[in-house]
Amino acid sequence: MKIRIIGAGPAGLYLASLLKAADPHHDIVILERNRRDATWGFGVVFSDRALEFLRADDEAMYQYLTPHMETWPDLAIGHQGERVAIAGNGFASIGRLELLTLLYQRVEAQGIEIRFETEVASIASLGPVDLVVACDGAFSFVRRDHEARLGTSTDWRSNPFIWYGTSKAFDSLTLSFRQTPHGVFCAHHYRYSPTMSTFLIEVEADTWQKAGFDTLSPEETIRHCEAVFTEELDGHPIISNNSAWRRFPAVWNQRWHFDNVVLLGDALRTVHFSIGSGTRMAMEDAVALARALKQASSVADALERFQHTRLPVMQKIWDAANVSLRWYETMGDLMHLSPIELAYAYMRRTGRVSHEAIRRMDPRLAAAYERMHPETNP
Ligand SMILES: Cc1cc2nc3c(=O)[nH]c(=O)nc-3n(C[C@H](O)[C@H](O)[C@H](O)COP(=O)(O)OP(=O)(O)OC[C@H]3O[C@@H](n4cnc5c(N)ncnc54)[C@H](O)[C@@H]3O)c2cc1C
Repeated sequence: MKIRIIGAGPAGLYLASLLKAADPHHDIVILERNRRDATWGFGVVFSDRALEFLRADDEAMYQYLTPHMETWPDLAIGHQGERVAIAGNGFASIGRLELLTLLYQRVEAQGIEIRFETEVASIASLGPVDLVVACDGAFSFVRRDHEARLGTSTDWRSNPFIWYGTSKAFDSLTLSFRQTPHGVFCAHHYRYSPTMSTFLIEVEADTWQKAGFDTLSPEETIRHCEAVFTEELDGHPIISNNSAWRRFPAVWNQRWHFDNVVLLGDALRTVHFSIGSGTRMAMEDAVALARALKQASSVADALERFQHTRLPVMQKIWDAANVSLRWYETMGDLMHLSPIELAYAYMRRTGRVSHEAIRRMDPRLAAAYERMHPETNP
C-alpha cells in the first residue's frame, strides 16, 4: 500500500513502525513540517497503567523505550507548605525530544523515510495514495478543512496554562498549589531526565487577568512565576522553550475518517494534560489502526473497524480527562481544604476512584481522611 502520514509526532511515528513491521512492502513516507531537532515542550509522562498497556500491545517497544525513562512510585500534592505523597500512582517520564528521537531512529532503521521541513498544505498535494493518516496534532489542518464531514467539536477551556521546564530534578510527579493575592497558581512538575523537569503552570482565567499576564513580557512572566514558586524551585530557574500561555482545546470528532483519510492522535481528539495520557492515547490509536488494517479486507473496512473498536476505550479516558480539567477550573474553591483533604479530593476528582479504591492504593491517606471525616468509615 502507498501510505502517507502527515506529522512525525508519537502517533505518526509509531503507526509507521507498526505498519512496516506488519508488511515490509508498504510504501510509507512521513511528512513533518519541523526540523528533526525542533520540538515544543519538555517531558511527557506515562502512568504505570499506560506502560502496562504498551507492554501488552508491544513488548519490544516497551523494552526499547523504558530504559530511557525516569520513574517514581508516588504522586504528591503540595499545599499550605506541606507535601502529601499519594501511593499507588506510579509514573514514568521521558523528554519529548528524546522520545521522538528514539522513534525516528526506529522508523528509519525500518527503511521508512521521514521528510522533515515539509509542510503539507492540502491532501491533494500528496497525489494518488491508498491511505492518508492525519497525525498533524491538536491544530490539525486536515481536521480543520473537513470539520463538517468529521463532525468536529472544539471546546476551548477557560484555564490558561504555560509549559515550562526547570533544572531542578524533582523526585516525584507533584502538583504544587500556591495561594497568591491574585488567586491560585498550580504547577504540575516532574523530573524527565536526571537534570531536568517539566514545570507546567496553570491558573484560573480570573487569576491570569489579575496577575496582569496579558501585559507582561516573556521574561517578566518567568520572574513572576519564579516568585510564586520560590520554595518549589529552590533557587533553580524556570526555563522557556518558546513557552506561551495557551488555553486547552478539548477536541472531539463524530466521524474519524472520510474517503481514504483517517485522523489519529491529538488530531483525532485531545486529552487534557492533567491525566498524563496524550502520548499514550496517540500510541494506542496507532496500535488500533494498525490492527484494523491488518484484519480488514479494504481500507474503507479498516477505517470503520478502527473507529468501532477504538471508540469505547477512548471515550472513557476522554470523559475522565474532561472531568479532571474542570476540577482545576474551580481550584480556588478548594484552597480552604487541608493538605490531606486536598490530596483526597484530587484522587476522587474524576468520580472514577472510590473511597475503597483509595483504601487499597494508599491506606495511610484513607485513614488520615477518615480521622477527619469519620462518616466515610461507618
Ligand atoms: C502542555 C501540554 C502538556 C502535555 N503533557 C503531556 C504529558 O505529560 N504526558 C503525555 O502523555 N502527553 C502530554 N501532552 C500531550 C502530548 O504532547 C500529545 O498528546 C501527543 O504529542 C500527541 O501526539 P500526536 O502525534 O498526535 O501529535 P503531536 O505530538 O502534536 O505531533 C504532530 C506533528 O505534526 C506536525 N504537523 C502539524 N501540521 C503539519 C503539517 N501541515 N505538515 C506537516 N507536519 C505537520 C507537527 O509539527 C508535529 O510534529 C501534553 C500536551 C500539552 C499541550
